[in-house]
Amino acid sequence: MRAKSFTRTGKRPKPGGDLKKDIVSFCMDQGADLVGFASPDRWDDFGEVPPEFRPRAVWPPVETVIVIGMQMPLPIVETTPSVQHMELYRTVNRALDRLAYGLTRCLNRRGHASIFFSRDGYGSLKALRDKPIAAFSHVMAARYAGLGSVGLSHCLLTPEFGPRVRLVSVLTEAKIPPDPMQEGDLCIKCGLCVRCCPGSALSMRKDRIAGDYDKLACLGVAEDLTERRRYPCGVCIKVCPIGEDRILYGAKKSSGKYMSEKKKLAADPDSPEYRDWEHIRKHG
Ligand code: SF4
Ligand code: SF4
Repeated sequence: MRAKSFTRTGKRPKPGGDLKKDIVSFCMDQGADLVGFASPDRWDDFGEVPPEFRPRAVWPPVETVIVIGMQMPLPIVETTPSVQHMELYRTVNRALDRLAYGLTRCLNRRGHASIFFSRDGYGSLKALRDKPIAAFSHVMAARYAGLGSVGLSHCLLTPEFGPRVRLVSVLTEAKIPPDPMQEGDLCIKCGLCVRCCPGSALSMRKDRIAGDYDKLACLGVAEDLTERRRYPCGVCIKVCPIGEDRILYGAKKSSGKYMSEKKKLAADPDSPEYRDWEHIRKHG
């Protein structure tokens, strides 16, 4: 059997009023937690992303960027660095890529040429050391698609999951109405990500929300964890107080626990407060 309605007739199909609804249903049915739509104009309007990294530069026919998010459940993120956390990260990444690939094919079959950018845009940590930037930023795409705002840690913060969400983007030539952007900043500049970062890679700035971010210091932590098969770090993602997922898991007031974790575990590696996390770390 051959795929039906893969049309390239020279005539572009008009995205019917239901295309956006169909895309959202497709993504939700396939396990997405968040879906947002952005016009490539937003990259130009805000001018925050260098021109060569904007959607029209990486794929000129693009008319809409669709950004899909999947959650990272907090209690496993809290065990970082652990094999369980690494496997969760890998599982979410694979699920996102599979979904984006499926959506791309589905749009192509409907006659809307599309491509997707996998959730990581670099070959290895070594490649990242030489060139510490990905070809396309899903974080900025998600900001322009209305899924959240960028925090001090440079992560996307969403109302639902704070930064505990992984992202992928589909670029399509179908013109779909964009979603409104997140109003205001979700980051409260609490500084927890700065204080808990094991690589001292983040520092607060007075003049803006996003802090200074030392990519190579962060990369050093990632390299060390990769050698121990305990990547990624994600401490800034774990400690961020933003996100309704904290209500679900009864973890609204965990900042003290995060702040004193290192000190208390150094004093007592069997501290009852951290026994569950340490169990998973040891036996992951
Ligand atoms: S931990 Fe605090 S300062 Fe860091 S991104 Fe989250 S809200 Fe902002
Ligand atoms: S991933 Fe880890 S090392 Fe990198 S900025 Fe976040 S807390 Fe720091």
